[in-house]
Amino acid sequence: MIRFEAVGKRYPDGTTAVDHLDLDVPAGTLTVLVGPSGCGKTTSLRMINRMVDPTEGRVLVDGVDVATRRAHDLRRGIGYVIQNAGLFPHRTVLDNVATVPRLLGARRSVARKRAGELLELVGLTAGQGDRYPAQLSGGQQQRVGVARALAADPPILLMDEPFSAVDPVVRADLQRELLRLQGELRKTIVLVTHDIEEAITLGDKVAVLRPGGVLAQYAPPAELLAR
Ligand code: ADP
Ligand code: ADP
Repeated sequence: MIRFEAVGKRYPDGTTAVDHLDLDVPAGTLTVLVGPSGCGKTTSLRMINRMVDPTEGRVLVDGVDVATRRAHDLRRGIGYVIQNAGLFPHRTVLDNVATVPRLLGARRSVARKRAGELLELVGLTAGQGDRYPAQLSGGQQQRVGVARALAADPPILLMDEPFSAVDPVVRADLQRELLRLQGELRKTIVLVTHDIEEAITLGDKVAVLRPGGVLAQYAPPAELLAR
C-alpha cells in the first residue's frame, strides 16, 4: 500500500537526511521505523504525505506516485499524529476533533456527534470534551490527537513519536490502546520511534533505519530480539 523506491532526500542546505530507502508498508499493518535521532525517520514519514518531497526515487501510495497528487487531496486520506498532539489551544477538545468533519462539509450537529464518538473510541469522556487542551494531561491530549487524526476516517495514519512526551506508565497505556484500536480499525499505520522496545511492542513489521537507509527489516519483529 505504501512503497518507498530508492528514495533519497537532500535538504537545500546540503544535508542528506535519507539516502536510498527501499521499504514496503503492507496495507492494514502497523509498520514501525526505528533508529537513532537524526537517521531520517521524520523526513521519511513526511515524504508519505508530501510535507517533504524526495530528491531521489519515489514514494507510492496505492501504486500511485505521491508526486503526481495534490498534497491537499493526498492528506485527506492520511491522518497525522505528532509528539505534542498539536491541538488548537483556544478550542475545546470536542471542537478540536469536530473541526475535521466540519472542514469536510458536515453540519455542525453531525460533526459534534462524530467528534463525541471518536473521543469515546480513544477513551475520553464527554466531560473531557468540554475542556480545553491545557486542562488535560499529556496522555489525554495525545488521545485527542489520535481522535482528530481519525476524524476523516483516513485509511493511512502517520504517527511521529506519538508517545515520547508522556511518562512510561501512561505510554504503556497508550500503546495498549493503540493496539486495541488497530485491532478494530485495521489502518495502515507508519509509526516513528527511537525506542526499540516500543517498536517491538507495536510493530507488525519493524524497519531499523540508520543514517542513510534501512539497516534491516523484521516481520515478525520478535526476530529482532534474537539478534
Ligand atoms: P529523525 O526523525 O530520525 O530524528 P530527521 O528526518 O528529523 O531524523 O532528520 C534527518 C537529518 O536531516 C538530520 O540530520 C536533520 O538535522 C536533518 N534535517 C531535518 N530536517 C531538515 C531541514 N528542514 N533542513 C535541513 N536539514 C534537515
Ligand atoms: P521533530 O523531530 O519533532 O520533527 P525537530 O526539532 O527535529 O522536531 O525539527 C523541527 C523542525 O525543524 C522540522 O520542521 C524539521 O524539518 C526542521 N529541522 C530539523 N533539523 C533541521 C536542520 N538541521 N536544519 C533545518 N531545519 C531542521
